[in-house]
Amino acid sequence: MMGHSHALSGAALWLLAAPGLAALPELGGLAGDLTPVVANMLSPAELIAGALVCAGAAMLPDLDHPHATIAQTFGPATWVLSKAVNWLSGGHRHMTHSLFFVVAAGIGTHLLADRYPIGRDIVVVLLIGLALRAVGIGIPDRTITSALVNIGLTAGTFLFFHSRDVGYLWLGLAVAIGCLAHVFGDCMTERGCPVLWPLKHKWLLPWKMGLKTGRAFEVKILGPVLSVVVVGLFAIRLMPVM
Ligand SMILES: [Zn+2]
Repeated sequence: MMGHSHALSGAALWLLAAPGLAALPELGGLAGDLTPVVANMLSPAELIAGALVCAGAAMLPDLDHPHATIAQTFGPATWVLSKAVNWLSGGHRHMTHSLFFVVAAGIGTHLLADRYPIGRDIVVVLLIGLALRAVGIGIPDRTITSALVNIGLTAGTFLFFHSRDVGYLWLGLAVAIGCLAHVFGDCMTERGCPVLWPLKHKWLLPWKMGLKTGRAFEVKILGPVLSVVVVGLFAIRLMPVM
């Protein structure tokens, strides 16, 4: 799947899941008490911040692909990183396209955010930058102007959330949801994903129904449909309840 589709599906999954998660009763000793993590997820600013973070996180699994959008977003830095991730995870669509990665990325981000506020802010800024890039802000020809537009918008968005007292207790959860949306999306493609990595079995649609990445269906139908879904979900979630 293309970066654009992944980012939109990440935002959509966040907007679908956040209210349900926030409404969860205390889970008792089962998984610890989630209340502090989900308590503020539903203020309008946090909902928007979560959708952007989730959209950015939905690009992370493709760090194992040096030609993917994410690998080319921050120039040589992300390219070298993606080469390293590609080598570590055993190639494209291996470890980073599994539930193992979803959980590890979520818990890793949560622990980082919990301990290092600066690290948390850097992750948030990078993910917002990625999300904006994925939906088409700052792409054309990678000119300096487009990079500056992306940086300016990212900084402005981050400062806006800051002014609205957005807390990021849910950051790890949003990263996990974004990565999950990616794995699910790639399972809809013809190559599938090793969902239960390290088991090698690829999960994909039967009868070769899987999408071919970047073909007309994804560009002309799936992309626009996902955009409409995201805009519609934003409208539903942010509309004041009568
Ligand atoms: Zn992928």
